[in-house]
Amino acid sequence: MNQSDINPDVRQHAQALLDFIDASPSPWHAVASIRQSLDDAGFTALRETDSWELNAGSGYYVIRDDSSIIFFRLGEDNLQHSGFRIIGAHTDSPGFRIKPNALIDKQDTLMLGVEVYGGPILATFTDRDLSLAGRVSLRSESVMPETRLVKFDQALARIPNLAIHMNRDVNTSGLKLDLQNQLPLLLTVSDDKHSKGTDVFRSLLAQQLNCESDAILSWELAVFDTHCGGFWGTQSEFIADSQLDNLASCHAGMRALLDSDNHELTQVCAFFDHEEIGSESVKGGNSSFLGDVLNRIAIAHRCDRQQYRQALARSLLISADMSHAWQPSFASAYEPDHHVLVNSGPVIKVNANHRYASNAVTEAMFMQCCEQANVPWQHYVHRNDIPCGSTIGPMSAARLGIQTVDAGNPMWAMHSVRESAGVLDHTYFTAALSVFLGKN
Ligand code: ZN
Repeated sequence: MNQSDINPDVRQHAQALLDFIDASPSPWHAVASIRQSLDDAGFTALRETDSWELNAGSGYYVIRDDSSIIFFRLGEDNLQHSGFRIIGAHTDSPGFRIKPNALIDKQDTLMLGVEVYGGPILATFTDRDLSLAGRVSLRSESVMPETRLVKFDQALARIPNLAIHMNRDVNTSGLKLDLQNQLPLLLTVSDDKHSKGTDVFRSLLAQQLNCESDAILSWELAVFDTHCGGFWGTQSEFIADSQLDNLASCHAGMRALLDSDNHELTQVCAFFDHEEIGSESVKGGNSSFLGDVLNRIAIAHRCDRQQYRQALARSLLISADMSHAWQPSFASAYEPDHHVLVNSGPVIKVNANHRYASNAVTEAMFMQCCEQANVPWQHYVHRNDIPCGSTIGPMSAARLGIQTVDAGNPMWAMHSVRESAGVLDHTYFTAALSVFLGKN
């Protein structure tokens, strides 16, 4: 790579990703950000509770339970002849969620109790300027509550490390945090002004929502790092931010679809919450969501059941998720013949036990997308002696019978609160996805 590879368009595309992530500190906010881009592009909102009338050439989106979204542009070709072109990704990232009885008074220090969500690298959350974002349900007149998004802009809480003077082994034994006792977030000290008995946290939340404290019934709040994304490296050729896994893939997929000028194919992006906790939920990758939406697109397209099955058999899915880049200081963790480099193109993930959904045919299909986009590609295989992660790919492939490839950009420090990846790779992957959405 030389500096000229990172032209202003490439830099701007990476900056747009960082802006997207910084505006999306929780899966609920990620879907709200995507929705904003879709509204700006003239897409029409559909509700699962309504009956759908769809027009070829137009764009639509469906949101399930605020944090999973499927959007699509209906093609002019018959579905049974061209199938669906689908990009799947996930909107959630590992971290913490605030418990219902959140406030803990620990000997004059007020803390917030958290549950661990998915598999974060816990130690990376210490000594960061943390805050909260998510959704809150408020009392209403009907059975269903009013639900609102909430995001605190200022740093609100922290997990301060123990000083080395009191933890002499920290550099030899590593930072180990007790899951029950050492994760609560330090919020404030309790003094007379923060009179005991009143729930400081609820008041804070009410103030932010501009509502009465007792109107708050429940919440799902994620803990995020207020530090914005940025560039680093001798040529500023790398990016660092939270949630690159997997908002980088959401952003690449969304741009590829929104910027496509192909009107023949039916192009779909399906971004699910709950991938980090196994995808088994009302809106996860293993839910009925994608199948329901594809089926209803087919109905609106006047396909009969036979034709819908033909459409699925002709469909292709790229399960877009990040991959582990080579970090030479930890060489023994990598399969030596398959380490992948940052800024050297998207990665095709292969696993003989189908923890990844790629097979020879779909791998080759993705390679051709890369070649036709004029971008490099790489192969990743996990070591045989370390258990391999998974993605939404194998689930959607099994559920719908759609040929699938697992692919995504290389990154360092997956599940750290500050991950990093390559500036060039974001443009490369977006270009490959554009070919996928635009070519028969
Ligand atoms: Zn992921």
